[in-house]
Amino acid sequence: MRAADLDLRELLQFDPQGGVIRFGGQRALLFDAVALGLLRKELIETLSATGARGVLTRFGYAHGWRTAENLKEQFPWDDEGEWRRAGGRLHTLQGLVVVEPLARKVESGTEPFAEAIWHDSYEAEQHLLHLGQADEPVCWTLAGFASGYLSYANGRQVYCIEERCRGKGDAVCHIVGRMREDWGEAIAPHLPFYQSACLDEVLAHVTHELKRAEKRLRARQKELGPKTPAATDPSGLVAQSAAMQKVLELARRVAKVDSTVLITGESGVGKERIARFIHDESARLGGPFVAINCGAVPEGLLESELFGHAKGAFTGATQDRPGLFEAASGGTLFLDEIGELPPAMQVKLLRVLQEREVRRVGENRSRAVDVRVLAATHRDLVAEVHAARFRQDLYYRLRVVEIRVPPLRERREDILPLARTLLQAAAKRTRRPVTGLSPRAANQLLRYSWPGNVRELENAMERAVVLAQGSRIDLDDLPEELGLALPAAYVPGDVRSLEDVEREYILAVLRASGGDKVKAARLLKIGTATLYRKLKRWEGTGRPAA
Ligand code: ZN
Repeated sequence: MRAADLDLRELLQFDPQGGVIRFGGQRALLFDAVALGLLRKELIETLSATGARGVLTRFGYAHGWRTAENLKEQFPWDDEGEWRRAGGRLHTLQGLVVVEPLARKVESGTEPFAEAIWHDSYEAEQHLLHLGQADEPVCWTLAGFASGYLSYANGRQVYCIEERCRGKGDAVCHIVGRMREDWGEAIAPHLPFYQSACLDEVLAHVTHELKRAEKRLRARQKELGPKTPAATDPSGLVAQSAAMQKVLELARRVAKVDSTVLITGESGVGKERIARFIHDESARLGGPFVAINCGAVPEGLLESELFGHAKGAFTGATQDRPGLFEAASGGTLFLDEIGELPPAMQVKLLRVLQEREVRRVGENRSRAVDVRVLAATHRDLVAEVHAARFRQDLYYRLRVVEIRVPPLRERREDILPLARTLLQAAAKRTRRPVTGLSPRAANQLLRYSWPGNVRELENAMERAVVLAQGSRIDLDDLPEELGLALPAAYVPGDVRSLEDVEREYILAVLRASGGDKVKAARLLKIGTATLYRKLKRWEGTGRPAA
């Protein structure tokens, strides 16, 4: 490969869980340039400009030396020249400086070994910002980096000196690199900043030690075994919260037992995901996973859908057809919205569960089925049993184990990781270059109560990905109802005053009432005069009225 082939997206690797970023295989840090500028200022004030220049030059030199070594090992270069040029390219990709190499002229003996124009040096910028214009070039770290890189790459001592620098008022920085012997006397004033004689030796020693340490670390990691399981399950279930981790733990346990499971929870909490998870964790993994929404199939068709029918069993039954119980044979049948099952079907389902055989509509023989049934409902089945709308015997048959999936508002730790996962999926689906959430948008997601749960969050993310102007989702891209977020939602570290909560809530209700103050007052069960008085007061404080 060639220096020009280095691509930032390929050099950068990051763990989706966060924490460690790698650049070209080495751990790298994202660092604020201004913080480095402040460190520079501190060094100059503590050590004097000469001392600071020495530290920063040697810091840059070590960085360049290590980078060259690393690049040589990590990439298959077309030739040595490409590897030597890669240092400048890398520096550009890392955002330190834009390197424009100047072509070397034919050897006349006096031409520099390397020469480049530097645009937008972060170092000159920071020096100007914190210390003002200097009398001499100031890109010490960058010059040190170039020297270290070229010295390693060429196996000989190369020094890079800035002849012009933005830090002292020039339009661009201009760097010249020569072999030590070619510099002659001109290098003498610069040498003390490098202390090159011992530096290479020290670095060689450090590298040796580092390699030994890495080897020890690898051996140790092997001993310790695989890393602790990630909080995002491979099946895509996000469980940062203790509540959800408990659900997954229970699901994993019941997966091993071939019993019927009742999955309960509000609409949109992801009951089918849990059912699929149980199937995937069970011995039936190799068999089919068949799902049906009992509430979505007309009563007349449900029996034939579940149990199948014989040819001629009813008008339109032109051929024999197996039902879903047979289709799921050897696997799992997921009966969603089981609470919607009509009474006549409840009896038939109970019989199938008890006898483990189905009878197709219009047939008088039974067929054995080997199916594990998982059922789900958003209804309170106990209440349905009390109201005589759901058979008690079927309820007990289904509810051998019950898994309650908590609503999103009871597992707030999952909101942002889930939002990010759903955002990524939506961006991929819609081919939109959206990669994250603005802090304001993230905060709003945390505040909202999510009555529609994960499904609502998924829809919100998809919509926001389509609307987003840049690479991040901002507040305006979120659905309007999120703006009506329950002000009572408590977000750790962000406690609001009661008055603010009251104001936000009243304004939200007013907006929801289409601005009708009489209606809003009635909903809030306060007098219209009280509402007017409050609105007037908030106007008076200059706070936004809506
Ligand atoms: Zn400079």
